[in-house]
Amino acid sequence: MKIILATHNPHKREELRSVLRSEFSDSIEVLTLEDIHPPIGDIEETGTTLEENALIKARAVHAQAKLPTIADDTGLEVTALGGAPGVFSARYAGENATYADNVHKLLDALRGETNRSAKFSTVIAYINKHGAEHLFRGEVEGTITDSPRGTNGFGYDPIFAPTEDLSKRTFAEMSDAEKNAMSHRGRALRAFAQSLRS
Ligand code: IMP
Repeated sequence: MKIILATHNPHKREELRSVLRSEFSDSIEVLTLEDIHPPIGDIEETGTTLEENALIKARAVHAQAKLPTIADDTGLEVTALGGAPGVFSARYAGENATYADNVHKLLDALRGETNRSAKFSTVIAYINKHGAEHLFRGEVEGTITDSPRGTNGFGYDPIFAPTEDLSKRTFAEMSDAEKNAMSHRGRALRAFAQSLRS
């Protein structure tokens, strides 16, 4: 069976690929947007929820590729900020914000704040070969650190320390396998994998 991953983000692509490989070994051939011709450009995320945005991306790719498709959308909700940046996590510091811009804006917004709790959520949208749509959610609770730590991963990884890691490392201080084992994206993907098997 072939599945196409509807993302241009190389970090996400590798995480998705690696979890799918460990769940299905070689029984699923994972394709990426680079395998699609004509190329699909950036898909505008106009939804107001992670579910809507994941479906927008999956539908756009499925319509062109005509193959089973997976798309994910992720948000970081910070309790002291009333759930922000949430669905706007990619654009928190502005339309063309870099990962570093977003990280610094978040650290500034939390300066002096003692409640550092936060939650990452990922929604995976899967559209099968018949066009049926399925959604899977994965979440991980954690805290926002006072400053960035670590160089692995991407996005907010250097300032997010998952509660269940007893050594209090950030995701950016973990190996890919350690992050995937407890991350929002890993959890959503394993829920997807379980449903595909049943
Ligand atoms: P997206 O809309 O799903 O691409 O993600 C929204 C924002 O969350 C982007 O700024 C990403 O960098 C960030 N993000 C998504 N997944 C992760 C993750 O696993 N770790 C850290 N940041 C992430």
